Amino acid sequence: MARDLTCIICPRGCHLHIDDNLNVTGNFCPRGAAYAKQEVLDPRRTLTTTVRCKSQLLEVCPVKTNAAMPKDKLFEAMKAVNEVTLTPPVHIGDIVIKDLCGTGVDLVATRDIEK
Ligand code: SF4
Repeated sequence: MARDLTCIICPRGCHLHIDDNLNVTGNFCPRGAAYAKQEVLDPRRTLTTTVRCKSQLLEVCPVKTNAAMPKDKLFEAMKAVNEVTLTPPVHIGDIVIKDLCGTGVDLVATRDIEK
């Protein structure tokens, strides 16, 4: 389970090593250790994609999750996303799918589409 990672929390990009006992080395600050443990124990990602939209101007509307979701649910989430078709008007922040795949995270619109 020991892994080498690059910390993505800030531009310094420390090279981290986490061993089997969750001891982290290579981090310049505590945020790196927290990131490495999260990445090993419960990796999460923000999903950014598009959904179909019955707009006169655009075929799709950009969307993203309002928080990082479990990485192992991304595939299931994309299946749910592909089932959705929006009808304008759509506004930034509108919830497109609430509690996406039971993650507690919502999928929201990131663009206004008036018609
Ligand atoms: S460990 Fe700290 S200093 Fe290094 S990249 Fe991560 S957040 Fe930045």
